Amino acid sequence: MRKYIVAGNWKMNTTVPEGVALAKEVAQKAHSLPANVELIVAPPFTHLACVADALKGSAVALSAQNCADHEKGAYTGEVSVKMLTSVGCQYTILGHSERRQYYGETDEKLVEKTRLALEAGLKVILCVGENLDEREAGKHFEVVTAQTKAVLYNFTAEDLMHVVIAYEPVWAIGTGKTATAAQAEEIHACIRTVVAEKFGKEVADDMTILYGGSCKPSNAKELFAEPDIDGGLIGGAALKADDFIAIATSF
Ligand code: PEP
Repeated sequence: MRKYIVAGNWKMNTTVPEGVALAKEVAQKAHSLPANVELIVAPPFTHLACVADALKGSAVALSAQNCADHEKGAYTGEVSVKMLTSVGCQYTILGHSERRQYYGETDEKLVEKTRLALEAGLKVILCVGENLDEREAGKHFEVVTAQTKAVLYNFTAEDLMHVVIAYEPVWAIGTGKTATAAQAEEIHACIRTVVAEKFGKEVADDMTILYGGSCKPSNAKELFAEPDIDGGLIGGAALKADDFIAIATSF
């Protein structure tokens, strides 16, 4: 069964007390949501333990924004998958365009990180998406197909039950420019086909594919009405509990 998800990527925002207050507000307001919508928050690493505490007793899941590509050892500044599960993370975002662009996240590293995450029992929200030049050159299908295959095709159908894809056109992230519902839908349908080609229709039909890029209460309904858009990965609008919850009630 395909799951509907709204996940908030807080990026490098909020102090720990601010993050705890936001998590508490989200948890409290999440009670009114339908049971088939999963809410996830992804605060910075420093917040995870305290936010896990703040979310106790709620149905809101906790995600990291990244993880190390090694299990443990001399990797100063890195955070391992076991550290994440030990503080109560159920998910990690991987391959966000900001990490690909600013921190040299390659597909090879993403395969390794995904493998470690899945082995540790973490679910993965894998981000894919073309940049503006690629979109203007008409290469968006090609880029997203390549990014999706480069990671997913190294795993099994069983593994894919624990992977969510987030399509995030880079030109729409934090810019206020949302992809139209039609633009997003055609890429989501393409991702589902890429999954079906290797793993079969049933696996593809069960896969949750999120849209990310300036998604907000005013456009979520139109996006989520598309047959292949199963929710959103939300940046800016996830920093206000009311907006985040309003997005989650847009199905
Ligand atoms: C994101 O960075 O994952 C994102 C979707 O950001 P925003 O909603 O702010 O565009």
